[in-house]
Amino acid sequence: MTLELESVSHRYGDELAVSDVSFGAEPGELVGLLGPSGCGKTTLVQAIAGHVRPTAGRILLRGDDVTDTPPERRHVSVVFQRPTLYPHMTVSENVAYGLAARGMDREERDARTRDYLDLVDLEEQRDSYPAELSGGQQRRVELARALAPRPDVLLLDEPLSGLDPTLRERLRDEIARIQRETGVTTLFVTHDQEDAMALADRLVVMNDGRVAGSGHPRRLYDSPPTPFVASFLGRSNTLSATVVNQDPLTVAFGGAELSLDGTNLRRSEGEPVLCHVRPKDLSFAPAETNGASVSVTGEVKRIVDLGRRYDVTLETRAGDEIVVEESSRPPSRDESVSVSVPGDCVTVFDGEQSDSSRLS
Ligand code: ATP
Repeated sequence: MTLELESVSHRYGDELAVSDVSFGAEPGELVGLLGPSGCGKTTLVQAIAGHVRPTAGRILLRGDDVTDTPPERRHVSVVFQRPTLYPHMTVSENVAYGLAARGMDREERDARTRDYLDLVDLEEQRDSYPAELSGGQQRRVELARALAPRPDVLLLDEPLSGLDPTLRERLRDEIARIQRETGVTTLFVTHDQEDAMALADRLVVMNDGRVAGSGHPRRLYDSPPTPFVASFLGRSNTLSATVVNQDPLTVAFGGAELSLDGTNLRRSEGEPVLCHVRPKDLSFAPAETNGASVSVTGEVKRIVDLGRRYDVTLETRAGDEIVVEESSRPPSRDESVSVSVPGDCVTVFDGEQSDSSRLS
């Protein structure tokens, strides 16, 4: 592993900002650290960079414990949320500055600066000042500056925030390309689920200072380990159900029964559970007759026309509100409709919906 965090916790006075966080990054991997504002992401970045000493736990770089190593001896580069280029230095001076501080001679420094400005496609702007560049170009200079010392680990703390959607997407693609070309082990920190899904080889989802789930982005999205991960990685419907059979696990929504093959979950009959299913997996088609899906009926409460799809909100007979994404013409408001819920798209959690209660 290039980077390892072992049970890292951090307190600011009485406040526990990070609690018992463990994860790592393999060489060349791009790990996405995703979570809502205030969940402890920046604190972790500062701890890995060496600007914050965790109150408990260890940080390892290439197998060495660096928990007490000062930032300048860690071979870690950070791109922060807010631009930090020196306004009185040109683009190439900004990139070269850190190399000079590391004692690199002029010739090598110039060559390295050229290579990395070339990598981010800014060779032509080498003599410009930051104020003469667009927001996206400034971020690319920051990337070149962070990469030029060839760090063991690159930390990107919300590098796309504050950019308009088009520029954001373009820079996201650029980061993916640059990371692939350099092969630098990267931790990409964001609160944006789409950025994280689009970029990360592996995701660590945080909530309230703790790891709420980690794994391959698609797997986390399709089979979330906790209700928090289910809802943070995209919209998720929650349907209340009751266990009617243990093996195979069968749950009932009102009168309709759905067999959930492939789950190892054992729950007693009569226990309440919550079934999560994504709006894109629901349809107004009739349920299959072979038990692989089930129909849930409800009344249409709201229809939002988003151009490429409609979001249709229903209230079920059990009182749950669910959203169905529909690409063709939706039913009318107040209409009573049946929605087909496919068993293989359902993830079941404990009825209490506690965040550590994944059942399948
Ligand atoms: P954001 O995306 O808003 O920056 P974050 O996920 O990066 O949030 P942190 O900035 O690490 O989260 O903050 C985690 C918690 O620690 C928050 O409750 C925050 O108020 C608190 N915190 C952060 N820095 C300090 C500090 N220097 N002193 C006291 N509390 C702090």
